[in-house]
Amino acid sequence: MSKVIKDPVSGKEFWLETKYMLDNKYHSGKRTNPKARKYMVVHHTAGNTPGDLSVLRGQAGVRVSVKYLVPDPQDGNYLDDKGRLIIYQLLAHDVVGWSIGASTGEYAYVTNSTSDSIEVSNLGNGKDTFERSQVEAVKAIIALEEHRLSQELRIFAHFETAPGRKVDPYRAFPLQEVKNFAIYHTFKEVYMATTYRHVAGWAEDSLSRQKIVDECNSLGIRYTVDGPAWEFHAPLNKTKTVEAVVAAEPKLHRFNGVLVEAGTHSNMGVADGIGTKQWNVTVV
Ligand SMILES: [Zn+2]
Repeated sequence: MSKVIKDPVSGKEFWLETKYMLDNKYHSGKRTNPKARKYMVVHHTAGNTPGDLSVLRGQAGVRVSVKYLVPDPQDGNYLDDKGRLIIYQLLAHDVVGWSIGASTGEYAYVTNSTSDSIEVSNLGNGKDTFERSQVEAVKAIIALEEHRLSQELRIFAHFETAPGRKVDPYRAFPLQEVKNFAIYHTFKEVYMATTYRHVAGWAEDSLSRQKIVDECNSLGIRYTVDGPAWEFHAPLNKTKTVEAVVAAEPKLHRFNGVLVEAGTHSNMGVADGIGTKQWNVTVV
């Protein structure tokens, strides 16, 4: 579905437009193994955006398709009502495009079935520079793709998969910057998904405690509660969301620095207004 996506480095937002998705019949249909798709190939179109969009929607009879088109922001017709550059998604996530042709050389393993492609609108004449927002758009796409895949997504230039046959994107494109971003972003995503944090605290009443329970349930986080005490153990990408709920609710309190291994018990002392009591909570 169409939505806002963001370059996590600059914070720049883009509108991902999917209304023309699968207009184009020039593709190989569904991927048999979605996990085989590990690479992203970057191109320049050697054209202007209206022409690029027509070709990549299959309207010009050219037997080619790509997953993403990043328009030329200087055109002005490809901004949404909030001034965000529109990125077109033209193929579904699980469809093999006809994007890179035959691969040769060192990176011959990068094929249409193991990759997706991003076309960046640029005349490709060596004089038409890439706009900063186009580079940020490419990063926003990579961030979106990696989050979806939770695996490393390596970036290639088309000239790397077809040396001698292709020159795109031409050298003004900051390829190394985009490659470095993909490595860093992958690492961060994996770190967030595999590093666990244990968070414990207490609630002043059952209403505020229920907010923890609801958030944990909606995220699929396992938690335990006993009296006013609560505790959960989850990867960082999820604990951050629950921690935000705790921070926003004045009746929820966190114990910082409580370190408990999974499967063990922790005793928590909470002053309930009458006296200090102890609750036993198991980390699951
Ligand atoms: Zn290309």
